[in-house]
Amino acid sequence: WSVAVTGNLDDCACDVETIDSFNNDQLFPKLQALLESDYFRFYKVTLNKPCPFWTSSSHCGLRDCAVKPCSPNEVPEGIRSPSHNKYSAEANEQQEECEKTNHLGAVDVSLSEETREALLDWSKYDDEAQRFCVVDDEDSPDSQYVDLLLNPERFTGYKGPEAWQIWNSIYEENCFKPYTVKRPLNPNSFPSSSGGEGQCVEKRAFYRLISGLHASINIHLSARYLLQDSWFQKKWGHNISEFKVRFDSELTAGEGPKRLRNLYFLYLIELRALAKALPFFQQHGIRLYTGRPEEDQKHKELLLEILQLAKSFPLHFDETSLFAGDEKEAAKLREDIRLSFLNISRIMDCVDCFKCRLWGKLQTQGLGTALKILFSERQIKALPVSSDHRPSFQLNRQEIVSLLNAFGRISTSIRELKNFRSLLAEDW
Ligand code: FAD
Repeated sequence: WSVAVTGNLDDCACDVETIDSFNNDQLFPKLQALLESDYFRFYKVTLNKPCPFWTSSSHCGLRDCAVKPCSPNEVPEGIRSPSHNKYSAEANEQQEECEKTNHLGAVDVSLSEETREALLDWSKYDDEAQRFCVVDDEDSPDSQYVDLLLNPERFTGYKGPEAWQIWNSIYEENCFKPYTVKRPLNPNSFPSSSGGEGQCVEKRAFYRLISGLHASINIHLSARYLLQDSWFQKKWGHNISEFKVRFDSELTAGEGPKRLRNLYFLYLIELRALAKALPFFQQHGIRLYTGRPEEDQKHKELLLEILQLAKSFPLHFDETSLFAGDEKEAAKLREDIRLSFLNISRIMDCVDCFKCRLWGKLQTQGLGTALKILFSERQIKALPVSSDHRPSFQLNRQEIVSLLNAFGRISTSIRELKNFRSLLAEDW
């Protein structure tokens, strides 16, 4: 069979086999357990925002696109309570303190040089300006909690020109692709999955992240395909031919394996972000607050275990190779990439299928949060170890939930590749 992806990954001293065994044997089971907890299963989202780019011509009537929101009493009160979940309670106090100090232009001289520098940065720190994706207004009456375990990402039947229009505008207009697609949209005119030749490494990396996300979505719909649909039963499972059509080297003129490599690349970037976020979560004041202290503590410990594991991965992608050139150019490039990613997160409001929109929004927000972490290294390093110093970096509950769930999707896709490998071997 020719769906194999093996050996070294470009742009990183890491091979696919090392990632497979690390993910499948060590990280995946722990992550699954964490994502079943109440803190991570309830995600607040606005699904009925209008598309800001075009008038959506069709309204998806597919049954499997429906999303069932939670009724208020299904969500633990601790999660619903805004005072605990915008930031942790202590972080909120710290932030207020910080705002006061900034107002007065004062910096605590007892702090180390590095912390002071980061605090001065923080005085200019504007959360909006650091964000890589649009965050729904949690207080909007249109935003609702969704139980992710009851609304799994799987085959929905969403396809054709509407779906292509989304992928097309992501790649064509927001992925630095040196090509244009003529209308009517033709999926065969999509670009090669290795990204633009001759492009700078950062833009190529950005393209590969999006392609990896696309691959992950398509692996999920192949692994949880609607195999049987009768009035008394629906059966979901692996569809080998769907998987082959999308990823077999011969059937995709060599593109399939490249797309899978992009998935591994995305995995490495998100894994790196988790490792870098460890000091933030190690802070005393950061809690996974649901209002049930014992459970919250247990899940915080499991989260820290996962982040330690991510940190222990021996062959991390070295993101310092990105944006390493001239400072001014690097800053401009970084801003270009941030704005492109912001746009991609807006495009998610144009996805007609609500189930696809839910997971599309969650995964772009998760990846946006990963990028925010990777680009905030200095602020994270300067985080105070005790709770009486001010924070220089923040993540709110939405960002934390989307970060871990988005990584959970990629980790599951890598695990699913193992399942498909066995099924294809049997099929052979
Ligand atoms: P598409 O996947 O639509 O791809 C269009 C073209 O892009 C292809 O012809 C190919 O040239 C190129 N391409 C494909 N994969 C890659 C890649 N990895 N990298 C670079 N280029 C690539 N469907 C579901 O059933 N369930 C879901 O949960 C779901 N979620 C979605 C979320 C979003 C945000 C979007 C936009 C679509 C989603 N879909 C979902 C639809 C699904 O992704 C496909 O669009 C659909 O199955 C039609 O597939 P296709 O074979 O026509 O090619």
